[in-house]
Amino acid sequence: MQSRQQQDGFHPEQFRKQGHALIDLLADYLTDVGQQKEVVLPFTAPDEEVAFWKTACFEDNLAYWKAVVARSIHLHHPRYMGHQTAVVANEAALSALVGAVLNNGMSVYEMGAVSTAQEQILIEVLAQALGFSPQAGGFLTSGGTLANLTALLTARAVKIPWDVWEEGAKEPLALLVSEEAHYCVDRAVRIMGWGSAGIIRIPTNGRMQMKTASLRSAYEEALASGKKVIALVGSAGSTSTGSFDPLNELADFAEKNELWFHVDGAHGAAVAFSDQYKPLLRGIERADSVVMDFHKLLGTPGLTTALVYRKGADAFRTFAQRADYLLEQTQSPEWFNLGRRTLECTKNMMVLRAYVLYQRYGTTFFSQQVEKLHYLAQQFAGLVQENPDFRLCTQPETNIVCFRYAPDRVLPQDIEALNREIRKRIIESGAFYLVQTTVKKQFWLRLTLMHPETTEEDLKALLLEIQRVASEIGPVHHPSTV
Ligand SMILES: *Cc1c(COP(=O)(O)O)cnc(C)c1O
Repeated sequence: MQSRQQQDGFHPEQFRKQGHALIDLLADYLTDVGQQKEVVLPFTAPDEEVAFWKTACFEDNLAYWKAVVARSIHLHHPRYMGHQTAVVANEAALSALVGAVLNNGMSVYEMGAVSTAQEQILIEVLAQALGFSPQAGGFLTSGGTLANLTALLTARAVKIPWDVWEEGAKEPLALLVSEEAHYCVDRAVRIMGWGSAGIIRIPTNGRMQMKTASLRSAYEEALASGKKVIALVGSAGSTSTGSFDPLNELADFAEKNELWFHVDGAHGAAVAFSDQYKPLLRGIERADSVVMDFHKLLGTPGLTTALVYRKGADAFRTFAQRADYLLEQTQSPEWFNLGRRTLECTKNMMVLRAYVLYQRYGTTFFSQQVEKLHYLAQQFAGLVQENPDFRLCTQPETNIVCFRYAPDRVLPQDIEALNREIRKRIIESGAFYLVQTTVKKQFWLRLTLMHPETTEEDLKALLLEIQRVASEIGPVHHPSTV
């Protein structure tokens, strides 16, 4: 047979050769960052970075990939303690490569048989961990933000007595959510056209959990002003501090008032896999819908998000509109044509990245991730509390710890500026990566312990580094005498 002419970019042998070299490059990289031979963040200014790539010229792809790796923030560095993005497990990364090569489109069964089936199984596993009955169902989708929007669109379709898809909102709609909720809930409300009046923020207690005692009055006030409240959203955990709302009490309120009960567990619903931490989720089994990111606590590359419904059939009501050229109409819900339920049309084979861990380790990998990362947070909180130069914002419930440098000798009005400057200097030096947040109008440094190989020594080193940088900064404070 005459061999086909092969186009650049499509030679299998080139793939083999470059692939081997790339894997070697990445394995060396993982070794080096694991041993802390690199800084965490090779800091550059945005304009500088654009200028670099505009003028950069590489002799081959490997040189290009080397530059990409070298100039990126290194999540596998044990002193990466910043945003809640997973430090990716080896197998999960390799599985992502398989998905990238196959690139099955997922919207209809024929375009993704393997990943459609695996999604079904993984959702069952998660639903069971959450305490749902076999009636539960769901799918994976591109990120917690999109999953929360999708769940709220389902809430709208189910809770409104008229056909909202055809007729629009008609009445001012609203939902109840904690003031500490992730901003994507606010965005979802505005995307749905409910405006700022559509989001009713419930205050939180000292541990940043929704004050359920405030629910009734807020709800009644909303009704009195003519709003149609259709949903209650719980956070598990909240973004700034990782606080878990009292889900069981929220479920009581939602049930009594016939509200859709949604739980944004993008970060924290993963604790369902741990016997030790699952009590944080008490009541989640009563939620109508739950969102959970595999790409936060569970070592999976983004975006890999589960949206699970207590009654799986509800998901078929989200989008009454039909793309009939893709989906033949039938009366029965076609679970295997995922595009009926997802906002995406083409969707990544995201399940491969999490399923590889599940088929290899069962749910043990997930429970160990949760437990290791939570343990590190407890350890760090302990170190903060024992050190008179530091204050803890609130006892961590998950792997997130908010704290600040606040020795008595620093005036209260100087604390924010000092902590901002400390963070700036530390991340620019590349020694550690940590973030900042505002809780109840106060500025805090924020750690998310993401790397299972971060040690107590790393945590102690961070506190020492903060003290050292603070003493360098002056004059708002004087170096510690200890
Ligand atoms: C991270 C997070 C989100 C957003 O999820 P993405 O996957 O980043 O889109 C929403 N809610 C909470 C509570 C989160 O922690």
